[in-house]
Amino acid sequence: MNQLLWLRTDLRVSDNSALAAAMSAGPTVALYLITPGQWLAHNDAPCKVDFWLRNLAELSVRLSELNVPLLIRTVHDWQAAPAVIADLCRTHEIGTLHVNDEYGVNEQRRDEAVDEALRKTPTVMRRHLDQLLFAPGSITTLSGGYFKVFSQFRKVCYARLTQSLPGCLPVPDRQASLPIARDSVPQAVDGFGQPSDYLRSLWPAGEDFAQQRLAQFAEDDMAEYEQRRDVPAEPGTSQISAYLAAGVVSPRQCLHAALRTNHGEHDSGNPGAVTWINELLWREFYKHILVGYPHVSMSRGFRRETDALPWRHAPEELAAWQQGRTGFPIIDAAMRQLLATGWMHNRLRMIVAMFLSKNLLIDWREGERWFMQNLIDGDLAANNGGWQWSASTGTDSVPYFRLFNPLSQSAKFDPDGRFLRRWLPELAGLDKRAIHNPAKLNGLFTAVDYPPPIIDLAMSRDRALTAFRQLGEAL
Ligand code: FAD
Repeated sequence: MNQLLWLRTDLRVSDNSALAAAMSAGPTVALYLITPGQWLAHNDAPCKVDFWLRNLAELSVRLSELNVPLLIRTVHDWQAAPAVIADLCRTHEIGTLHVNDEYGVNEQRRDEAVDEALRKTPTVMRRHLDQLLFAPGSITTLSGGYFKVFSQFRKVCYARLTQSLPGCLPVPDRQASLPIARDSVPQAVDGFGQPSDYLRSLWPAGEDFAQQRLAQFAEDDMAEYEQRRDVPAEPGTSQISAYLAAGVVSPRQCLHAALRTNHGEHDSGNPGAVTWINELLWREFYKHILVGYPHVSMSRGFRRETDALPWRHAPEELAAWQQGRTGFPIIDAAMRQLLATGWMHNRLRMIVAMFLSKNLLIDWREGERWFMQNLIDGDLAANNGGWQWSASTGTDSVPYFRLFNPLSQSAKFDPDGRFLRRWLPELAGLDKRAIHNPAKLNGLFTAVDYPPPIIDLAMSRDRALTAFRQLGEAL
């Protein structure tokens, strides 16, 4: 029987569980659904949609080298998926539909609806583990529940990795050609603007490039990751997130790259490699949280009581934060990096998220949405987890009283102001001390076209602490 591979966030031919299973079972056809209405509803960024399409075009070529035709169907949203897929299965006499699991609530409902529709047909649906090292539900507490604390989750992951390592699958052998023509991949989708050439040049498409970026990071930078990962002016992190989010590279491939650098060790040896594997496990943790505690993705705080926080309606402050004109250079430089590149350094994501949710006391969901609308690596679980960590509404999140001070964070992690000068050219003439807090220059500063701070840090800190404390008293 023929096999259908439905591609989603798994845009690669190497180490692709569903592709390998399909091609080992019989002649395989691949499908990708373009769903602009769904992507808009999920706040997927135009640069991310463009990245998907560029990777899909590369993937279509790789698949055709394997004689697997890639079919493209465009529908408004996932509601149409069961009918479109059932129709394709009928037309191409499909025995099995193969998918790699995705973990968002809507994604799971979509797959259940497709499965349900296929039960009335000769086609069966098979789901595969691909986006994660460990299936959600397989890393649990002694009583079988999902972990809420990362260090405990990681301990079990370490034990599993010691027992057996998830291996990588090779690119399948080429199959005999099929009498089915591949569809062309559109270069753009209505409703999503085109990103700049500059942004695109930062994120070349294709599996070969992703492997190259991973190998280069593992060989040249991973050993130094521990020291350089918090310095936004340095290329000290892998910048692999967009490729992981779109599935152009797999977490197993990332893990093995780190293990090669670290002579097979995952929890000891080179601190850079160990810390990097730790980050892969944070990625894993937040996806498990999404499955175990699905309310987090339904606009609810993990800690439900935090939904009662008195979030401020402050559209002008929100817009200043979004556009990078708060008068705090580290916030503004970070937000401009996001708009220009589709990516933001992790240290900065934490600083700007805490500034919005604590100092401005604006609902973290506003920030979560803005990030999704602009990130090329936007990922529901990691983004939600990162926002809820920063806003102290999440699991294992930063305690509410540990507020980052954006000025001291700036001086600590960008001591020479290199990152600030890169993104705020209007401040380039200031020395490395003045650049973190130009408002202190008073009269001298008026010549520079840069806004004054939109908020008093001490007042806003007290306001946030009071709001959280009152939350406790109200319970
Ligand atoms: P590296 O430091 O090289 O890490 C390697 C990989 O580990 C990353 O590519 C990523 O897949 C994973 N990872 C690293 N840190 C985390 C983390 N804290 N949580 C989960 N996974 C992690 N990451 C996303 O992939 N998509 C998002 O939408 C996203 N939104 C975030 C929002 C906020 C408010 C915060 C604080 C963090 C967010 N992160 C998100 C996590 C992290 O900032 C990015 O994964 C990281 O900056 C990507 O750069 P990198 O590939 O160079 O990471």
